[in-house]
Amino acid sequence: SSAEPLDLNPALLRRWPLPQPGFDGDKEARGHVLIVAGSAEMPGAAMLAGEAALRAGAGKLTIATAASIAPQVGAAIPEARVIGLGETSAHGFLADSARRLGDLAGKADALLVGPGMQDEGACVELVHQLLERFEGIRTVLDATGMCAVHPRGEPHLLDETVDWEQFRFPSPVLLTPHAGELARLTGAERRSIEQEPHRAALSSAERWNAVVALKGATTVLAAPDGKVWQYQGGNAGLAISGSGDVLAGIIVGLLGRGATLEQAAAWGVVLHGAAGEQLALRCGPLGYLAREIAAEVPALLRVLA
Ligand code: AMP
Ligand code: MG
Repeated sequence: SSAEPLDLNPALLRRWPLPQPGFDGDKEARGHVLIVAGSAEMPGAAMLAGEAALRAGAGKLTIATAASIAPQVGAAIPEARVIGLGETSAHGFLADSARRLGDLAGKADALLVGPGMQDEGACVELVHQLLERFEGIRTVLDATGMCAVHPRGEPHLLDETVDWEQFRFPSPVLLTPHAGELARLTGAERRSIEQEPHRAALSSAERWNAVVALKGATTVLAAPDGKVWQYQGGNAGLAISGSGDVLAGIIVGLLGRGATLEQAAAWGVVLHGAAGEQLALRCGPLGYLAREIAAEVPALLRVLA
């Protein structure tokens, strides 16, 4: 595991071209993305991720979100089909949500779960049920969605039949933690993760059978087969509320188009960073908004892809 990480940069991406489905096809051919996200307190997360998936070139978008905010999400993203899910008292989604979304299994090409979601306990259950119903679908778990590996905030769940220390995904998914989130998920110190991000990302990838994008000023990407990449672009203006929701949306959009987990994460991280660089040039280094990031992506794809 001492191999030097490959630098993610435009030259590397040009040698790793994205699938280009659907220039002569219809919207189905460019991928149907399902995003499960948002809560009454964080409706914006579902909107930001949804717009970003479309900006990355996905053909069709369904957003499943809290019923109380579904009309607002639909008005903000008129391109999307929006499904309102029943809410728990802790602002999560009710246990029948996976069954309701199960109709989309076999129709959706990529899945994102987690941005802006609350109620870890409800979320753990939902993610596990979705992975079962959508078996083999390319999946990104972000934010609360990542508690599927270890619901530390819900100690009562730790007593159940699952041995969380041995937990592995049956087929790989993509996780997008920052150092604080990875610390919480692993029980390690945040400082030790920040000191050895390559090691932290790789050992988590191997342990959980997941592709792990450990986000920060440097983002480290590790795959369960031992491959490691790093990205050092972007700028501090990207450290803003909603920025990670946009990254997760870009990535699931690329997955919808047919990219692998590693490729979608690599391209997503570079596109997100390059968008921040464009905004810094045009608006200034700090103070651009997360909602402005995704609109940069189509032009960047023209340059990079
Ligand atoms: P999140 O913490 O989930 O909102 O995600 C923040 C996003 O901004 C991640 O993609 C980080 O990699 C990125 N980011 C945060 N700080 C910096 C920085 N100083 N330079 C470049 N990118 C950053
Ligand atoms: Mg985040």
